[in-house]
Amino acid sequence: MDRDYSNWQSLRNLALFLLPFIFVGWLFGIFWPLLTFALLGLVCWHYFYQQKLIKWLWQSRTLMPPSAPGSWSYIYDGIYRSQRRSQKRRKSLARLLRRFREAAEALPDAAIVFRADGALLWSNKLAQFYFGLRWPDDAGQRLSNLIRHPEFSVYLSKGQFDDALTIPSPVRDSLDIEIRIMPYSEDQFLLVARDVTQVKRLDSMRREFVANVSHELKTPLTVLQGYLEMLEEPEQTPPAMLKKAVENMNAQSDRMGNLVDQLLVLSRMETPSDDVFDHEVNVPALLEQLQTEAHRLNEQKQHKLQFNIDPIHIYGKESLLRSAMQNLITNAIRYTPEGGEIEVSWKETSGGVEFSVTDNGKGIPAQHLPRLTERFYRIDEDRNSASGGTGLGLSIVKQAVEHHNAQLDISSTPGKGSRFAFQLPHGLIKS
Ligand code: ADP
Repeated sequence: MDRDYSNWQSLRNLALFLLPFIFVGWLFGIFWPLLTFALLGLVCWHYFYQQKLIKWLWQSRTLMPPSAPGSWSYIYDGIYRSQRRSQKRRKSLARLLRRFREAAEALPDAAIVFRADGALLWSNKLAQFYFGLRWPDDAGQRLSNLIRHPEFSVYLSKGQFDDALTIPSPVRDSLDIEIRIMPYSEDQFLLVARDVTQVKRLDSMRREFVANVSHELKTPLTVLQGYLEMLEEPEQTPPAMLKKAVENMNAQSDRMGNLVDQLLVLSRMETPSDDVFDHEVNVPALLEQLQTEAHRLNEQKQHKLQFNIDPIHIYGKESLLRSAMQNLITNAIRYTPEGGEIEVSWKETSGGVEFSVTDNGKGIPAQHLPRLTERFYRIDEDRNSASGGTGLGLSIVKQAVEHHNAQLDISSTPGKGSRFAFQLPHGLIKS
């Protein structure tokens, strides 16, 4: 409600108060003493309500003003209204600030606000985690003292923030943090930081992968090129050498074909298929086919192959299981010295159903075991040998097995042999 207290009103009130005194004073001939008395009374009245106002403003905890008559009621109400207004404004500002902070905390990035002189004004929880800041203890401290990294200090002092800066987290060695700084009000800056550890790792994996594929393709290509140069003058090449050249060229092109096939298998596996568990796989029939292939592959090495297969069908993806089982059987045949013993088994266990390939070959030194399933990882001595595969086999097995919620288990004793196994859960067995 707007209450208008005009000059006219105020004069009228003053006149209404003084008139009786003037009249009585004039009637009894005491005009001036009575007028003085009336004015003194008026001053005391104002003084009283002024004191009341001071007491209310400074000592009272309540927002409601005390009651007052006349002009003082307008003063009290006016102050009360402006207090209410500023209280409302304060509340809505606090709400806004709370919402901003909640939003900043929900950000997947770290955020820091600092002044042009480097003083820290605010930081969210993620910033405290990445940079070890303490909030609110570090408020007002210089950012270059809080985030101690030479590259960051140079970046900050240059004041050119067009490009992002990547530094390791000063408090968590394993994290790489990408920092961007943006000026956002007159002398304030917003620093946004995000964890790029994974991105960096993937990037280096990608580069390593391309380098490996190129290297793997280059080796057979160089060999082929050499023979092709020799074949440019076939009349000067002895027939025995020609025969060997063709054999070697065939072997190298097989090797390249094999590599490309395995790369295709890997890339197909990376596209997740949701129907992995929809199809019934007749594993005994699958292993029968693999057994025939294994005998063909074994012609040269003459290992004693033994297949112990339980009649268990499962739900899964046949192409993936075939890749996994085939690779493990081929490896055992390939890496076991001639006349070895290899056992392939598919058996029900307490935890589900287990596939395993056990050989009595040369075994694998312990330091290689954790890295065997990395792409292109081979034990050095095999890299250039005749048995040299692509180094992709076990990474294919690992992925195929993981698609079935299982894990590849490798145990090996140098000089005694190796065992590669994976166990599929009960839920995948077809009853
Ligand atoms: P590759 O294509 O070279 O066979 P894999 O990923 O299948 O690649 O195998 C990686 C390495 O693990 C091989 O280079 C080989 O040295 C070793 N390896 C795999 N299986 C066996 C095994 N049964 N016995 C001994 N070494 C093995």
